[in-house]
Amino acid sequence: MGYEITHWIDGREDAGDSASTQPIMNPATGGEVGTLRLADEATVDRAVQVAVAAQETWAKVSLAKRTQILYRMRQLMIEHTDEIAEVITREHGKTIADAKGEIARGLETLEFATSITQDLKGGFTQDVSTGVDAHTLRQPLGVVAGITPFNFPAMVPFWMHPIAIATGNAFVLKPSERDPSASNIVARLYQEAGLPDGVFQVLHGGKTVVDALCEHEGISAVSFVGSTPIAQHVHATASAAGKRVQALGGANNHAVVMPDANIEFAAGQVASGAFGSAGERCMAVPVAVTVGDAHEPFLAAITAEAEKLVVGPGDREGTDMPPVITPDAKDRVVRMTDEAEAAGATILVDGRGLVVEGFEGGNFVGPTVITDLAADHPTYTDEVFGPVLVVMHVNNFDEAIALVNSSPFGNGTAIFTDSGHYARRFEDEIQVGMIGINVPIPTPVGYYSFGGWKDSLFGEHHAHGPEGVGFYTRQKAVTTRWPSQNETVESSMSFPTH
Ligand code: NAD
Repeated sequence: MGYEITHWIDGREDAGDSASTQPIMNPATGGEVGTLRLADEATVDRAVQVAVAAQETWAKVSLAKRTQILYRMRQLMIEHTDEIAEVITREHGKTIADAKGEIARGLETLEFATSITQDLKGGFTQDVSTGVDAHTLRQPLGVVAGITPFNFPAMVPFWMHPIAIATGNAFVLKPSERDPSASNIVARLYQEAGLPDGVFQVLHGGKTVVDALCEHEGISAVSFVGSTPIAQHVHATASAAGKRVQALGGANNHAVVMPDANIEFAAGQVASGAFGSAGERCMAVPVAVTVGDAHEPFLAAITAEAEKLVVGPGDREGTDMPPVITPDAKDRVVRMTDEAEAAGATILVDGRGLVVEGFEGGNFVGPTVITDLAADHPTYTDEVFGPVLVVMHVNNFDEAIALVNSSPFGNGTAIFTDSGHYARRFEDEIQVGMIGINVPIPTPVGYYSFGGWKDSLFGEHHAHGPEGVGFYTRQKAVTTRWPSQNETVESSMSFPTH
């Protein structure tokens, strides 16, 4: 029923070589809206062969021409933002404004990639020895794959493909099977922008496709974003197959609230980090750490913030918080709240049992605020990935640092304070990849790089920005001498020392 989403191979819709499908659901209604074709190994192999051939030609296209295509793509993305936001809201559930926000953030990386001429400039040194020059150049890897999560169906793929393509690679995208449609629109727009067929392709499916891409000899590198267990699996599988891998995993981001902070401001910011997009962001803020006297006023302020949020479908005007992605995701939030309560925690704001009138079949759960929870309880230590904020209380700054650093995750963190001294110590001592000072969701802009530490990233490279260019290219160092025809250069058997 509804629409059918197929793969995008060699510049056209392609049903693939397998009859296997799965339903595409609307999280706000709980109803089926479409059907997704799932690829098998044969379809993966076919797409990779197309990509290998396309990449050989694409790598020879001038930088000027590549850049012009990216500029056209940017314009088309802007013109089609409403269309893409609508399908994201239908399949993911997030609000239209949030969907447009992720498209705009994704475009930052495309905009960065339009300046690839700057990033591909190598170094040059004249006369490293007399009459000998040295220079460097960066070349594409070949065909690279991107495997992406449900929570940002536009932005996260955009962290990858504009840079991969600008640097001369072909890109095979395997988006989340939960919200697949945006990727097919992007494929169509790339074609309209003038990108040769086969340089950007989309394969749909789950583990079968992921494993086939990680093991295919035609794939040189794999970029992954998703949960930690799958990041570890992809990192291990693709590394064992000799590929370059960057695998970004899950998170459990803490915001530290110091007693000197503007508590109302901090509570508003933490609420947006905890409950925006129903907490389904890798840079969400599921934990607030109140220091000393900040605790009581923060609890009062965050309770007020949570209680005023309007929960509803993402395409309804006035909705602050949308549904979560699946009935399972909703059950997980309810179960982890139940378990915290059974362990003696205080449920300050309770999102369980919330029903949105007219949307009884939707995956709705309200904002939830929990405190008085032990530091080893799974509702605090694990990633809930829903609209749940756990407030932990510590006595001083050192205890806050120790608590944040005890998490196995190290994606993002924030501190709310008026003190430059504590802010500076925080950024120095915290073992986390992305840090906000009075900023709750410190997602780096497209021309910086995005990546966490510890169980939030496996591999050497962060995503997009300069590290993205490094990931999708290999460097050569060239040493050159042009002796004249009649010049005599003495040869020596000893190692050259210039
Ligand atoms: P997920 O790990 O379930 O899925 C991610 C991708 O892996 C999807 O394309 C999916 O099809 C594929 N996949 C799922 N199971 C697989 C398996 N057994 N074998 C091989 N491939 C498999 O993640 P999700 O639920 O789509 O997204 C939410 C998670 O992603 C959260 O943990 C969130 O923190 C994380 N995330 C992290 C970042 C980051 O930058 N670190 C960004 C966004 C999301």
